[in-house]
Amino acid sequence: MDAKVLIATRSFGSTSQKPWQVLAEAGCETVRADMSQKMTEERLIELLSGVDGAIVGVVPLTARVLENAPQLKVVSAHGVGVDYIDLQAAARLGVIVANCPGANDQSVADLAIGLMVCVARQIPLVDQDVRGGKWGRYEGCELWRKTLGLIGLGRIGRAVARRALGFDMQVLAYDPYVDEKQAEAMGVRMASLEEVIASADFLSLHAALTEETRHLIGKSELESMKLTAFLINTARGGLVDEDALYAALVEGKLAGAALDVFAAEPPLGSPLLGLKNVVVTSHIGAHTRESIERVGALAAQNVVKALQTGEPVFRVA
Ligand code: NAD
Repeated sequence: MDAKVLIATRSFGSTSQKPWQVLAEAGCETVRADMSQKMTEERLIELLSGVDGAIVGVVPLTARVLENAPQLKVVSAHGVGVDYIDLQAAARLGVIVANCPGANDQSVADLAIGLMVCVARQIPLVDQDVRGGKWGRYEGCELWRKTLGLIGLGRIGRAVARRALGFDMQVLAYDPYVDEKQAEAMGVRMASLEEVIASADFLSLHAALTEETRHLIGKSELESMKLTAFLINTARGGLVDEDALYAALVEGKLAGAALDVFAAEPPLGSPLLGLKNVVVTSHIGAHTRESIERVGALAAQNVVKALQTGEPVFRVA
């Protein structure tokens, strides 16, 4: 196959050769974007010139970019979320959009649980203090028998639920597209959004970012959380109204938050970074050796299969 594929994501094939092999064995020539510079529409248009397929991280694949990439036939997200791709424009222009479901869910679930423990025990703060010569005592709280509220019970939500059940947590979930019986079979009780928010000791977000879910967690939702509760977000920053979150944390409407994702990344200048009851990470949910290999190989297969047959492995649009 005579095809050119753009790699516009930092981690593709960084932990194993497998993703590169999938492309090479199919005869694809690869072009790697320099991800140390900001990815603007202009840069993307330039990079996509003469390219048949692309594997992308969170880059602005807007209508304007897609309209200026006449040779582009397929884009695979290097992950699950496709909120940064204009799906309507892609459909109009006949560009196939694919993603990699199920390839990074275990890694993100590990991080969600890790963040719960971190924020409940203030591990980053204690670590900083010990390094600075202090030997303080911090009063944390247990996960054991607490209520975990999940917003979104897809692949990652379910992987988090399975782990939480091992902590003897009671798991409640809100997801309008999930069958109640399936959830019950795995030990999760489906409930309304209001009940999940109000009952949760840990509220963990795992819904896709869509127009329906943008700012799903705003002022009134934060104010109806328990004062002792923690918010965990490993999904997308846009699910939460960050101004409202900052206000709620400062006013003591909830105990703390742990955030892997932000409305703008990196969150330079965000007042959330100045709060001691907030734990932050740099969108590392899927950044494990295993997940980077699985996602990269699947994204490469998406592109190769779409170019060869007109259908990727996992089609979004
Ligand atoms: P998934 O598609 O398996 O699950 C998403 C779930 O969200 C689905 O069950 C869907 O029904 C549910 N949903 C849709 N609208 C909803 C609504 N209004 N309210 C509640 N639930 C709703 O995807 P997944 O693999 O579980 O991934 C979930 C999200 O996690 C992705 O969309 C992505 O944004 C994010 N993610 C983040 C990282 C990271 O590095 N932090 C890595 C992978 C994925």
